[in-house]
Amino acid sequence: MAIPHGKVFFGNSIVDAQDATLGVATSAVLYGLSVYTVFPVQVSAEGRTAFRLSDHYQRLVESCKIIGIDTFATQWTFERFVEVVREVVAANAPDREVYARATVHVDESIPGTRVRGLSTTVSIFLYDAVPIVPQDGMRLKTSVWRRIPDNAIPSRAKVNGAYVNSVLAKQDAIDSGFDDCIFLDINGHVCELSAANIFLVRGGVLITPDVTSDILDGINRRTILTLAREEGITVQERTVDLTELYIADEVFVCGTSAGVAPVHEIDGRAVGERRTGATTSTLHKRHQAALTGDEVHGWVTVL
Ligand code: PMP
Repeated sequence: MAIPHGKVFFGNSIVDAQDATLGVATSAVLYGLSVYTVFPVQVSAEGRTAFRLSDHYQRLVESCKIIGIDTFATQWTFERFVEVVREVVAANAPDREVYARATVHVDESIPGTRVRGLSTTVSIFLYDAVPIVPQDGMRLKTSVWRRIPDNAIPSRAKVNGAYVNSVLAKQDAIDSGFDDCIFLDINGHVCELSAANIFLVRGGVLITPDVTSDILDGINRRTILTLAREEGITVQERTVDLTELYIADEVFVCGTSAGVAPVHEIDGRAVGERRTGATTSTLHKRHQAALTGDEVHGWVTVL
């Protein structure tokens, strides 16, 4: 559960979690006008590490740019971001893996719905690393809700308000007895889950919707694509039909809070042999190793 650990970075300092609060009339609260990212913090014998921090920071900056939140990039740098992450982690001293959620909130209270020039408050908190989907073979349902298109609310921007779309679809899946949903775009092509990207394997080829398929450009998606290419697996990023998932040999999902997790059933149809496949297992292992011990790609920051 995303209950913050005791010490939270909020505004300009580390405060007690109960003091990290936003006003009821801020644009963040009224319109969901906050952008965020979540990254894992690992704890090992070597110390505490964060995964692909610069990519998470870059995506936060890009989310701000898309939405028009222009005060963040002028007030923050990657170096400051790393320093603050270090402070939060040191203040809480987690003894096992946690997730860190960094958010840029538009904290001004103004009449109407505009964004440019409004002030922002940054919060960073840690919470228990509990996966949001089963790790041993999940069951998915095509959602009755379509993914919001790029020209309505862009999925590329990780903006809080857009997550109402994910809430609707995830709740629909749960109400129907499934673990999570598959979002289709307005033309019926596959996008992603409520908070994870999706991959399928067919005939040894790894296929995933491309970044113009109304998806979040997931950091773990990028990681899987890199690791797969290193494994010599043929990769295709392209438009994916729902029925391709029905006849796939393997399907898996990935994300910070989803891990790399196999899918065993979609819309009442077994995926492959209803067992976790070899490609999924290989990429799961490579991903796990990369989270902590990566020395080749420069993905790991020691905190
Ligand atoms: N899609 C959506 C909609 C998400 O919320 C997430 C989780 N951040 C992902 C995909 C996976 O992204 P990442 O690998 O960066 O965690």
